[in-house]
Amino acid sequence: SVTTAADYPRKILDYMEGFLVSKTLFTACELGVFDLLASSQHPLSLEEVALGIRASQDGTERLLAACTGLDLLNTHTLEGQVMYSNTEQSSVYLTQSSPVSLTQSIHYSSKTIYLCWHYLTDAVREGSNQYEKAFGVKSEHLFEALYRSEEEMVKFMQLMNSIWNICGRDVVTAFNLSPFTTIYDLGGCSGALAKQCVLAYPECTVTIFDLPKVVKTSREHFVTDDNQRVSFHEGDFFKDALPDADLYILARILHDWTDVRSIELLTKVYRACRPGGGVLVVEALLCEDGSGPLTAQLYSLNMLVQTEGKERTAAEYTALLTAAGFQNIQVERTGKIYDAVLGRK
Ligand code: SAM
Repeated sequence: SVTTAADYPRKILDYMEGFLVSKTLFTACELGVFDLLASSQHPLSLEEVALGIRASQDGTERLLAACTGLDLLNTHTLEGQVMYSNTEQSSVYLTQSSPVSLTQSIHYSSKTIYLCWHYLTDAVREGSNQYEKAFGVKSEHLFEALYRSEEEMVKFMQLMNSIWNICGRDVVTAFNLSPFTTIYDLGGCSGALAKQCVLAYPECTVTIFDLPKVVKTSREHFVTDDNQRVSFHEGDFFKDALPDADLYILARILHDWTDVRSIELLTKVYRACRPGGGVLVVEALLCEDGSGPLTAQLYSLNMLVQTEGKERTAAEYTALLTAAGFQNIQVERTGKIYDAVLGRK
């Protein structure tokens, strides 16, 4: 007999249990399963993995089985014993030593975002972020809550950093930015996008503008001295004057803020911008008809639990840029998570 959508709710069952998948991934990373397997010259048995990650055999067996079902591990049988090894994706993205590792993002998802999402119902009802309930921090200023300790700030910076190894080149090359030589990356954080920019455009210099303690950490831990075309500027983009430049990058900045705050910031950018210059807004764009992409729709809920902002459509960004004075607004979708919107002065 044919199973129809009505008598077997596959999607709903998958969604109901989606968090089991996330937690399996978080735990396998936290216990170092993929690192252990990557450091071994040969596939490992259950006993060897359990010993290596210092966990119970019973628990490890179930964890490895679930990772195998999720295609995060390969298995084969050797003399009657199951042997485990990393899949190609796991060794590239789930090991700490990989240059494109996602382990720090996974750690932040597990230790911060997951806890905020526990209060998603409250966030939807109240229309505000859930830092107070999740972490006991009450703050007028969003980034004081996000950076509630030095350790949290560094973890946030690592989260921001990792995605640009995967999607950064696409957003900086979505438009030909070669006419712009003096570039400011406002809220440039760990400098990952700035590095992609100087790699793509040999003539440009990029200055990372961010809060003083972020700049200090970025200098110490993220941007090495051989990145000669990347420099820093400490400041508060809402309070301090913005230096003049040909191009301002605002990557994942506007999604943190309300429309009013976004227009306030964009207006400051417009005033500082050299005539002929522009602003590059990098965000996960929602479709105009509300149909997707799912990632951006889920990110918008994440902005609700974590920030004062939301994800927006290209038309909404165009309206914000226009309100600030920018013209000739162009939109490029990259096909990956983040897209690019360019406005000109
Ligand atoms: N642009 C980076 C990226 O896409 O990876 C980081 C985006 S992160 C969501 C927001 C950034 O804005 C953080 O680096 C934060 O420190 C910075 N920021 C927040 N408020 C700021 C302010 N008032 N002045 C300057 N930077 C600020």
